[in-house]
Amino acid sequence: MTTAPVRGHDPRASSPTDPASLIVDPALAPIAHKLARGQRLSLADGETLFTTFDLHGVLALADFVRRRLHGHAAYYNINRHLNYSNVCALSCKFCDFYAKRDDAKAYTRDMGYVREQVRLAVDAGATEMHSVGGLHPYLPFSYYTDLVSTIRDEARKLGSELHVKAFTAVEIVHLAKIAKVYKGAGAPGEEGRNARREGIRHVLRELKNAGLGSLPGGGAEVFDDRVHDEAYKGKIRSDVWLDVHREAHDLGLNTNATILYGHIESRRDRLVHMEMLRREQDRALAKLGYEERRSDEETQRRSEEDARSSRRTFPSGTPDLSTSASEGPGNDDDALTRSEGGHLGYRAEESDAPVITLTRPGTPLPEHIAFGPATSSSSSSSSSSSSSAQCRVPSASSAPASCLVPSASSSSPDARCPMPDAFLGYYQTIIPLPFFPDGCELEHLPGPSGLENIRTLAVARLMLDNFPHVKAFWIMQTLPMAQLMLQSGADDIDGTVVWYDITKVNHAGQAAAPAAATHQEVTTMALHRAIREAGFEPIERDTLYRRVKREGKKWWVE
Ligand code: SF4
Repeated sequence: MTTAPVRGHDPRASSPTDPASLIVDPALAPIAHKLARGQRLSLADGETLFTTFDLHGVLALADFVRRRLHGHAAYYNINRHLNYSNVCALSCKFCDFYAKRDDAKAYTRDMGYVREQVRLAVDAGATEMHSVGGLHPYLPFSYYTDLVSTIRDEARKLGSELHVKAFTAVEIVHLAKIAKVYKGAGAPGEEGRNARREGIRHVLRELKNAGLGSLPGGGAEVFDDRVHDEAYKGKIRSDVWLDVHREAHDLGLNTNATILYGHIESRRDRLVHMEMLRREQDRALAKLGYEERRSDEETQRRSEEDARSSRRTFPSGTPDLSTSASEGPGNDDDALTRSEGGHLGYRAEESDAPVITLTRPGTPLPEHIAFGPATSSSSSSSSSSSSSAQCRVPSASSAPASCLVPSASSSSPDARCPMPDAFLGYYQTIIPLPFFPDGCELEHLPGPSGLENIRTLAVARLMLDNFPHVKAFWIMQTLPMAQLMLQSGADDIDGTVVWYDITKVNHAGQAAAPAAATHQEVTTMALHRAIREAGFEPIERDTLYRRVKREGKKWWVE
């Protein structure tokens, strides 16, 4: 059993200093070289990661980056899922969850049920209620604000606190329609976009006022219009999904992102999805005060790329991926970019956004993004001592004094304090979700293999250099697979859960028959054991990745 303390531990001391020593395939050498310096990988690099025979090399590189960020820490939380209704106006082909109102399996939870779930959650010491549902065509908007405030108020009545992480971007847009604040959203161009964003902002503000704490990352699927039109037509497209998260960030809400892979998308589609998220995170972090720092070598490379990209002519609707192009053998991003369209949500004009990575040596995560090895002292010393530090991180000391996290001596359940909005508004976690074919319209497809699952997760860790966390969602990946994923780029395995209606997985890790229970629960002890067996130190976090201190059911953030 690993008992090494995490706080104060410098993960770099035990990480290999040269990632090139981890690979067998020479095609991975330029990628290892970039990772050693913390440089952003290109889409061509991503293609190499997906096609190399050296899968173990890819996993080892992802583990290298993961340890640089989080050392031996592996995060989990104590949470509960509440799927408030499975009634949905849409019928996405990959979905086995939805029901029509008159179906025998249709359900919609009332507030009495919600209060009971809160009581059970508080009893179990949960810190989070994660709530999503179908796009119910008849519930009024007040149902959703009631849902959020009921969770918050009931938990407080019981002397505790539950962070409400709720509603995918798809649901938020649905709520804007129900609240009748989505008028004009169908107008072409900027006029329509402004109307959409105004409606989205209104809904998010109302929900935040009711107690919403953050957004989960669902509904993203794969950001590709061909895939969208074939598999989930009727759902929002990528540009709207990203706008919802952008609005949430601007309101000081943290969000997360998923990628649902292994159905009719290509690996290339997955990479573009990651690139789109990466650029949005660049923007979000820049707004929070992060700055791009380039070495001379990178400055030179970027100016060459800018010169190249200014000579390009992209067909209408084709993404300009020029900022991810980079040096090194096998870089054929130009050809890849020109040969494809279909990502209409990708806005080429944002290619001038700063490139902000969090995975560079000497760029530890700040306290407000992750508490693991990034103590304030190590943060300042490593930043100043490293000439290659890329981004400046806002320091915790700039937080308003009243909002600083309470010291251990003053900690009590009442001393929990909300994270200051000034520090919030970014993507926390990427959650790769494998497609389960059983019971849906696409059940003739095989679904991804275990090897594809772990490779996709590792590629996500390597490509999404500005996402602090990568989650191995054990409910869909299975706990044994999540252990392996902790050694291949993941740093988080989600929580104790209990009921999860969206996907059913049996104990052998296979998609289960419909009759299988949606009761999926692990104890904290089982999570600890799984994490320790994988060689990491279990750290309980809250939804915002703050370290949780606990005395039985009572908890507070450190
Ligand atoms: S994936 Fe979501 S929006 Fe699509 S049918 Fe299922 S519940 Fe409805």
